[in-house]
Amino acid sequence: MHSFQATQFSAVEPGRRLLVTGAVHGNEVCGTQAIRRLIAEFERDERRLLRGCVTFVPICNPLAYQKQQRNGDRNLNRRLRPTNEPKEFEDHVANWLCPLMARHEILLDLHSFQANGKPFVMVGPENNDGPLQPVRQADEEVAWAKVLGVQRGVDGWLDTYAGGVAQRRSRFAGREVGSSVDLDEQYGVGSTEYMRSTGGMALTLECGQHQDTEAPEVAYQAIVNTLTHFGLIDGAVPAVHSMAGLRLHHVEDKHHVDDDFVKPWVSFDRVAEGELIGHRASGEAVHAPVAGCIVFPNSKAQAGQEWFYLARDIERFR
Ligand SMILES: [Zn+2]
Repeated sequence: MHSFQATQFSAVEPGRRLLVTGAVHGNEVCGTQAIRRLIAEFERDERRLLRGCVTFVPICNPLAYQKQQRNGDRNLNRRLRPTNEPKEFEDHVANWLCPLMARHEILLDLHSFQANGKPFVMVGPENNDGPLQPVRQADEEVAWAKVLGVQRGVDGWLDTYAGGVAQRRSRFAGREVGSSVDLDEQYGVGSTEYMRSTGGMALTLECGQHQDTEAPEVAYQAIVNTLTHFGLIDGAVPAVHSMAGLRLHHVEDKHHVDDDFVKPWVSFDRVAEGELIGHRASGEAVHAPVAGCIVFPNSKAQAGQEWFYLARDIERFR
C-alpha cells in the first residue's frame, strides 16, 4: 500500500493556513513539479515563511500517479468525503486528505487537462446559503483567483453537475444502471467543494495541457502569487488580472459510447444557438440549445458519462 506525503512549513507569527495540492489526478504532474520546486526553495532558505503555515502535498493520489493515469481505482475528485468503510484506494486517500483540508483555511489545487487550451481557474459559487454549496467568502476567493496569473475564470461546476445528475436520473428512471453511471449529486464534490464545505476558500487551477512544458511554470507562479497575496512570504504584490468569465450551465451525457462530435472541439470553442455539435449513435443530431462555449469536451467518455459542458459569458471576474 502506498503512503501519503505532506511537507509543512510553519512560521512563528500567526497567519493564514494554506494547503497546496498536486496530482489529485495521477497523470497531472505540473503541480507535483512546481510543489517540489517550492519545497526545495524553502529547504535551501531561498524563501522564508513570514507568518502562518503552508502545507505541500506533491501527490494526492500515489496509486494513480504510479499508474500515470487519471484514476487509481476511481476518480478521487468525485464524492470526496471520509468513510468508515474504505474499499477503493481513493477512500484511503479521502480519509487522509479530508481531515488535512479541514485543518487549513485555503486550498490551491493544481491540475492539467487533456485537450489543448489555455490555463484557467475554477471558482466557487457566489455567496449563498442554499443547500448545494453555501459559501460566504466568495469575494475574497475571486480577489485571490485574479492574482494567480491566468486570463479566464469558470464557475457553476456543482450546480451544473447536479443538474446533469437530475437529467440522468429521469433518463434511467426505474432501470438498473451500472456503477459507472453517477446518480448522486454529491458525486460532483471534489477537493475544492469539500474544502468550501469546511468553511475554507478553494480554487482549482487548470495549468494547461498535460504535456505542456509551460504548465509547471504556470503552477509555480500561481503558488508564489498565492503565498505573496496572503502575506505568507515577502515579494512584490502580484498583478491583478481582469479575467474573462464563463459560467457552466449545461452538461450533456453520452447516451452511447459511439455518440460522436462533428469536429474535435476544444474547451472554450464558441458555439451559436442551434449549432450542430455532434450526433448520437442513433443518428439523432445534438445542437447547442443556446449560444456560448463548449467546455471539457470528452470524445472518450463512456455511455452515461459527461460528453461536454456548455457555458455562457459572465462579468463576475472583471
Ligand atoms: Zn484534474
